[in-house]
Amino acid sequence: MTLTEKLLARAAGKSSVSAGDNVWVNADTLMTHDVCGPGTIGVFKREFGANAKVWDPERIVIIPDHYIFTADSKSNRNVDILREFVKEQGIPYFYDVIDDPEGTWKFDTKQGLLNRQFGSRYAGVCHTALPQKGHTRPGEVLFGTDSHTCMAGAFNQFATGIGNTDAGFVMGTGKLLLKVPETMHFRLEGRLQPGVMAKDIILHCIGEVGFDGATYRAMQFDGEGAASLAMDDRMTIANMAIEAGGKNGIFEFDAKTAEYVDARVRLNGTRRTYEPVERDKDETFVFETVIDLSKLEPTIACHPDPGNRRLAKEMDLKLDRAYIGSCTGGKTSDFIEFAQVIRGRSVKIDTFGVPATPEIVRDLQSTYWGNRTVWQVLTDAGVQMTENAGCSACLGGPVDTFGRMNEPLKCISATNRNFPGRMGHKESQVFLASPATVAASALTGKVTDPREYLS
Ligand code: SF4
Repeated sequence: MTLTEKLLARAAGKSSVSAGDNVWVNADTLMTHDVCGPGTIGVFKREFGANAKVWDPERIVIIPDHYIFTADSKSNRNVDILREFVKEQGIPYFYDVIDDPEGTWKFDTKQGLLNRQFGSRYAGVCHTALPQKGHTRPGEVLFGTDSHTCMAGAFNQFATGIGNTDAGFVMGTGKLLLKVPETMHFRLEGRLQPGVMAKDIILHCIGEVGFDGATYRAMQFDGEGAASLAMDDRMTIANMAIEAGGKNGIFEFDAKTAEYVDARVRLNGTRRTYEPVERDKDETFVFETVIDLSKLEPTIACHPDPGNRRLAKEMDLKLDRAYIGSCTGGKTSDFIEFAQVIRGRSVKIDTFGVPATPEIVRDLQSTYWGNRTVWQVLTDAGVQMTENAGCSACLGGPVDTFGRMNEPLKCISATNRNFPGRMGHKESQVFLASPATVAASALTGKVTDPREYLS
């Protein structure tokens, strides 16, 4: 069996499963957020009754993160609906925007978009917050009401996005009927050259198979190249499995996984035990490829889809805007790579920076390069940085969202999706790239290979 088949066999209580089997799978964790949470709660109450109790309050994680820092009253209200439900059900893992459990959330436009407007429990973007808060464990099954839930596959989990109807059912029963996906095998060999990042790996892979080339399939990444990658990098790659249509992305468990997970479950007091799955000798794949990481170059997914691949060095495209942020591209390591290119220079086009989580804001504000923090290095260069960690303009959002494209602009972005209208205006265009390529392009105002800026 492949890693995904082994995970699903275990979760279904079976000794083995094959691709195409339909199995009832027990969930370890269900995650929802402010956009889909209210709908999921509505389905749960409609199907199980107004006074029904969730299957296990300890296994439901609720993370408001999407439409938070906006004056849109309906979006603000969604956070209040989550708070009321959490109180009613006794759900401990709710990462509220505000500290007062009896309060209501209202974004204060007078304070502006840049300065922190969240309380002490707020966790930021769900997929980045889940591992930081100790909710990802190898060998487990995670369902989330968000397509990029597959990011947790970096931790040797079966993690996939589900709709509100399925999530309402999981909320009531802890189970879901799943078809076991076929597995595509991406064997990574060699090491990345300087200036080439994990984002370039996944943009290369999606370019190979197309934006629908992995539809309802598992994407398994392994080999010595995969082992050489840090957890942040594996998260970037697993996150974008869905951009090829993948059901999930999955990595092997190793000492790096253990180090990250053990530290986080200890820090947060979450469940400590887990049982990873290991590779079998007799895996059956529907597709196999070997990728030599040393041959990869800075890569762009051009408008209008994530499979529309070009090399940065081959492009001559003028840009209006640059954006770094999201679950995929707004991690501490992403900002560090970005800042290494930007340091001591000035951006030429509007450039927006949105850390994925408050912890990342703290990292950037407390890491010094000489007498300047990384945060200051970025603002010195003209990058507009917000402390309000969250999804922000990654998926457009209400018109007052920080960094949203309200005009038909061209933006280079470290985010993960570039279908038309994704970051706002329906005629705007998004070009996906690594944080290093976004940085180099922000300096020149056109798509630029970051290797030109390596010292
Ligand atoms: S940052 Fe973007 S991709 Fe990630 S969860 Fe938010 S909207 Fe989705």
